[in-house]
Amino acid sequence: MTTEYEVIIGLEVHVQLATESKIFCDCSTEFGAEPNTHTCPVCLGLPGTLPVLNKKVVDYAIMAGLALNCEISEYSKFDRKNYFYPDLPKAYQISQYDLPLCQNGYIEIETGNGSKKIGITRIHMEEDAGKLVHEGSIDRSTGSLVDYNRTGVPLIEIVSEPDMRSPAEAREYLTQLKKILEYLGVSDCNMEEGSLRCDANVSIRPVGQEEFGTKTELKNMNSFKAVEKALEYEVERQKQVLARGEEVIQETRTWDDSLNKTISMRGKEEAHDYRYFPEPDLVPLEIDAEWVNEIRENLPELPLERKERFISDYGLPAYDAGVLTDSRDLADLFEECVQAYDDPKTVSNWIMGEFLRLVKEAGIEVAESKITGKLLAKMLRLMDDGTISSKIAKTVFEEMFKTGKDPETIVEEKGLKQISDEGKLEEIVDQIILANPNVVEDIKNGKDKAIGFLVGQVMKETRGKANPQLVNKLLREKIK
Ligand code: ADP
Ligand code: ZN
Ligand code: MG
Repeated sequence: MTTEYEVIIGLEVHVQLATESKIFCDCSTEFGAEPNTHTCPVCLGLPGTLPVLNKKVVDYAIMAGLALNCEISEYSKFDRKNYFYPDLPKAYQISQYDLPLCQNGYIEIETGNGSKKIGITRIHMEEDAGKLVHEGSIDRSTGSLVDYNRTGVPLIEIVSEPDMRSPAEAREYLTQLKKILEYLGVSDCNMEEGSLRCDANVSIRPVGQEEFGTKTELKNMNSFKAVEKALEYEVERQKQVLARGEEVIQETRTWDDSLNKTISMRGKEEAHDYRYFPEPDLVPLEIDAEWVNEIRENLPELPLERKERFISDYGLPAYDAGVLTDSRDLADLFEECVQAYDDPKTVSNWIMGEFLRLVKEAGIEVAESKITGKLLAKMLRLMDDGTISSKIAKTVFEEMFKTGKDPETIVEEKGLKQISDEGKLEEIVDQIILANPNVVEDIKNGKDKAIGFLVGQVMKETRGKANPQLVNKLLREKIK
């Protein structure tokens, strides 16, 4: 008999905050600088130096806490988390242990059976460690290099409750979380550059059992897709372990993207291994209601609110509103265009259709495209006044996308103006009628649909530039 299992997942997400300077010193946080050029005695942990808390970090952490429906603690403190590693020059990391800045929040996600709240246990602030660069082969025989530019870059760690029930839910949680943080502008959430890192905890239990099974922690997934794949692999692995009559071992496992499997890294550390104690060089953090309220009042519109507003203000279908608010940049593009062209559904169709198709084809981010709302609005007006046909509009749009040129200039340069001159079109229509006597006969015998074929022939002859309504009218007059 096979046992049916339920999957339990909780995520710990580290997010680099987009402040200009580090959390406890004024070194730059810029990514990709020459190694060890953004360092100072404080972030190198030299004796006698003292940390000074960057207020912007607290502002950003509170913003994240509010957007994720957390309570903001009036009183919190920093603690030292002690461990020895070459990328951690002080041999301890300043973090928050028992009194984190934010607690008891949630994120709403969409699942197959409607929306669901995933609890957020806590959000705390901490400093990042440096980066080790392993030279040469996997056995590290040629040595490792260390770059301390990243030590002291501010992070928040967002710890979820074990509320997710499938790898797909975990991926959806990450997608929503990233969207919210991007809307807030507190992080660029760039996974490749390490500004968003996810550790995934997973266990299984027989359906109906209340007690959780032993969990494993998965690390080193560098995309949401990889998180989902790693979790799927791990669920299967744990099932097989139990099926063999063995026990799941609590441990940390690393995801190997090329082998498509998780590999045991080390036994799991316990909190007491870290010898946490209050950071003596920083005063506890007291946050009054006024500070929190000011941030709350200035919070930007969040994805869900914006989606609702797109439905009520622009009369868009929920589907459109969801797609358009998927990123702040896309929603901005839409609103910029609607301001200049007051037909939301038409604008939505172009952005969801042609625009997203081209973005995907080019493999770029929305913000990198050359289309602006004003350019799209101008192009739509060229269609309305008959300067270009809808078919030609697609050509113009592609050109705008590539070059960012004004649509009028494109029409001019490429000679794409619609032919609405009756005399000119009549000539072509006559040719097409002469060349297709059988089709004309069919139409005369009542097969009205065949007229579409003739219109198509005229469009082909004019390379899409003929005004289709006019061609239709001329054909009907002449065949009658
Ligand atoms: P630890 O003490 O091992 O760090 P925590 O209780 O702090 O464990 O939880 C760390 C993360 O693991 C949280 O995101 C939590 O939701 C998740 N988690 C805890 N227990 C389980 C479990 N049995 N299965 C899956 N995830 C779990
Ligand atoms: Zn520094
Ligand atoms: Mg823990």
